[in-house]
Formats: sequence, structure tokens, C-alpha cells
Amino acid sequence: MTRYIFVTGGVVSSLGKGIISASIGKLLQARGYTITIQKFDPYINIDPGTLNPYEHGECYVTVDGMETDLDLGHYERFTGIRTTSANSVTTGKIYKAVIDKERRGDYLGKTIQVVPHITDEIKRRIMHNDDVVDFVISEIGGTIGDIESAPFLEAIRQLKWELGNRAVSVHLTYVPYLKAADELKTKPTQHSVKEMQGAGIQPDVLVLRTEKHLSDGIRQKVASFCNVDLECVVQSEDMPSIYEVPVNMQRQGLDAALLRKFGVPVGETPEMEGWHRFLELQRTATKEVHVGLVGKYDLQDAYKSIRESLSLAGIYNHVKVRIDFINSENLSKENVAEKLSGVAGIMVCPGFGQRGIEGKIVAVEYARKNNIPTFGVCLGMQMMVIEFARNVLGYKDANSSEMDADTKHNVIDLMEEQKSVTNMGGTMRLGAYSCELREGSRVAGIYGTLKISERHRHRYEFNNNYKEEYEKNGMQCVGVNPESNLVEVVEIPTHRWFVGTQFHPEYSSTVLNPHPLFLSFVEECSKSL
Ligand code: GLN
Repeated sequence: MTRYIFVTGGVVSSLGKGIISASIGKLLQARGYTITIQKFDPYINIDPGTLNPYEHGECYVTVDGMETDLDLGHYERFTGIRTTSANSVTTGKIYKAVIDKERRGDYLGKTIQVVPHITDEIKRRIMHNDDVVDFVISEIGGTIGDIESAPFLEAIRQLKWELGNRAVSVHLTYVPYLKAADELKTKPTQHSVKEMQGAGIQPDVLVLRTEKHLSDGIRQKVASFCNVDLECVVQSEDMPSIYEVPVNMQRQGLDAALLRKFGVPVGETPEMEGWHRFLELQRTATKEVHVGLVGKYDLQDAYKSIRESLSLAGIYNHVKVRIDFINSENLSKENVAEKLSGVAGIMVCPGFGQRGIEGKIVAVEYARKNNIPTFGVCLGMQMMVIEFARNVLGYKDANSSEMDADTKHNVIDLMEEQKSVTNMGGTMRLGAYSCELREGSRVAGIYGTLKISERHRHRYEFNNNYKEEYEKNGMQCVGVNPESNLVEVVEIPTHRWFVGTQFHPEYSSTVLNPHPLFLSFVEECSKSL
């Protein structure tokens, strides 16, 4: 019997609903339950694949090739589950499904309306995993009161009514601290809960985000003004790391309160040994290693999974990774030595389009020549390949046909099946593909296996016409897709650590299973300490 947890947010955005949802998932898993977590985004894009990172941060990719919200990355990193397209739903997807059905004539002449047709489609998506897992956690993006979220709230209201005690609503709000008055204010929370009640939903659990510790008196006040049991009002104070949040929630009994709401026996509090071991490592890692993140988006969320993968790898290497963002647009041959002077290694970021790519090439050249550990992902790997062509193979005009359609030396070229593509949304090479590693290569040693599968998101690829020439001159193509023969991994074995992957290893690094490539890269960077 599957049970449902609906997570909503009020007062302001950016409260960390994704982290709370992932933490609830983690705590239920620790009690032996199976879970899944889905994200409902109220915007009208079908998926965030066509959104600029400035709009939306990183685009996370599931194994089955869905371009999704970065919160799915948190879900996977916290819980180790593998999400799929069913875990990410937008208003656009809902409307498209309904309109497609209408065009097919499936509604038999009915007038199509938000209620019940749109809300039914939302409910169908929420119930997708019914009887598959013990708990489904559905996070509703946006803030209560937004026009866009209204159909989602209505769907939740109906499900809460239909499912009875198989559904629980968790509402996350903000308790601001007013410095001049030296007071913490609960009024915004009261208003937000009123807004929920106006939509017909009584929150069962309130998670109060706060920068300062809330007294029992404040919790009591919120409980009685909002019709919520005191034990169901928990506080989520700012933590030094997001990975402390599950433990903090467990300490306050959030998981126990949820189970009681469902009428499920609570039992012993689980130990979560692996998680605690990880937190202990995190707390005791003091030595700092600086890694240069060479990219064009100076925005925390733009390379979220890469940042998290680096920092997780650091913790397991007993170091604190400090990420120095290096804007590739400002890099030139003249200043590269100075800009990279403080970093132990560089991570060359994925991306699209011309802006900032010459700076990435300059950084790669400097790191290659000076034996600085270098890790390139997707566009980053493509820049490593172009740099090698220009400066080692001597093809001065070498480029990707993405940047220069007429280059004579298109060492990175459009994939054959991409040539006829006209629609930009969801048409890249997306999701997990298998890759065979060359025995004896550095990367095979790092993975400890020759057969791997990793997630992709790109249109361009290494041009196999140049493969022999690269290998003769020292850049080895050590990972290849067994079906299509596409090059997935390049490395320079004579360099300290110089690896480029066409795939995105950052999507599959988790707290308890950090990715071996990131572990190895950070280990090499730490050697310079
Ligand atoms: N723009 C490149 C391509 O489409 C790389 C994409 C990426 O870095 N995700 O192939």
C-alpha cells in the first residue's frame, strides 16, 4: 500500500524544498522503506532542456534521458535512487498530454477544463508508482499563492480527500528574524498556512526554515495558530552543509511524526551509520584544495552536480574542495598563468555555443603543458580535443562544427542522426549509454571495470576520422560506445591526470557512492598540498 507525501513551500522561494524532500526520502529509506521522489514544476516548458542556466540552473539528466530540474540531482545524491522521466513533471507536460488526448478524440466530445482534466492528469502522474514503492514524495515547485501552482494544489486537495490517511501534507515556510526588533516572526507562516487552508488543504507537518534557533514557545504558537500538532512543527535551521539536514530532521523526529500521521508503527530510530561516517569525514576534513571551475556561468546552481561531485570526492579524500570559479570569457594567453596560479587542478565545464570557448581552450593548453590535473566534461572534453588538434596536431583552425560550421578540421562534428533535427527540445543524445574502456588505460583502472554506462547530453561528438592521428600523437581514445563506435573518453597517459569524458559522470555521484573519476581527480589534485 503506497503512501503519499506532498511537499509544498510558502512565503518565499529557495527555502530548500528539494533538500527537505530528499531528506524525508533518506530517513524513510533508513527505516527500510522503498521510496521515490518526484518534482512538479509549474512552468509551461515541457522540460528545462531548452532553458538557459541563468533561468533555471543546471539541467539534470535521468538515466532514461529526460532533461529535468536540478532537484532530481539532490534526490539521487541523498537517496541513491535512480530517477526516470516519471520523476519530473511540468505544467507543459501535463497540458501537452491533455491536448494530445483531446486531439485524438479520447474525451468523447467533452469540454476540456482545468478541473477535472488537468487535475486528473496531475493525479495520474502522482499515482504513477502506486503499489511500486512504499512512499511517494511529491514536491510541488513554486510558492503557495502563485497562479501557476493552483491546479497542483487542487490535485493534492482531491488526493488527500480520496486517500485519507494514506496522504500527508508537509508545508515548508520561512520564519524571518527582524534585527531591529530582535524578534523572529511567525506571521508569514500563519498567512501561508491560511493560503493552503483556503485551497482546502490542511498541512499535517510544518517545517520552519530559520536562520536562528526557534524556541518551543514559537513552535507552540505556530502549532496552535495553524491547527498542527506540536510534534509536527519542526525547524530547519541553516546548516553548515545540506547533508546535515536529514540528521537534523531525524533528531527532531520528522520521520517519526510522519509515520504517526500515516498510522504506521514508528519503531526504533535507525542508526544511519554510513551517513554519519560521511558527516564525520566532512566535519574533520580541514585541509583545503583549490579546484578551478572553468566555465561561463558564474552562478552557484549552473554546475550544481559538478560542484557537489567535487565536494563529495574531497570529503572521501579527507580534504575540503574549494571551488574557484574561473570565467572562461576573461581568460587569455596573457593572463592564464596568473588566473590558474592558485588552483591544484582544473575542471572544464559542459556548455553550448561560442561564448567563452576560446578561454577554455587556453586553460586546457596551459594545464596540459604544465602538467596540471585536468578533467573535462562534455563540452570540456571537446575543448581538450580541439586544443590538442590545434597545438599538437598542428591544425590551427581545428574546431567543433557547433562553433564553426565551415572549419576544414572539424575534429568535433555533428552526429549523423542529429543532422536532420529541427526541433531543439529533447532531441540531443540523452540518457545512459554503455561504454567500453580500454584495458590498461588510466580510466579503466579508476573504474576498476571495462564496461560502464553513463549519462549523456550532447549533439556533437569526436570525429572518428582523426582518431588514429590523435592516438599516434599521445591522446588516447580509451572509452568507446560498443554499438555506435562513438568516442566517449580521451586521456593523455603521459600527463599527471588529463581525462575528458563526452558523458556526464557528475549525474551519478552520490553521498554514499561518490563517482570514481571525481575521487581520482581530487586525489591527484590533493597531492600538490
Ligand atoms: N555543446 C556540446 C554538444 O552539444 C556539448 C554539450 C554539453 O556540454 N552538454 O555536443
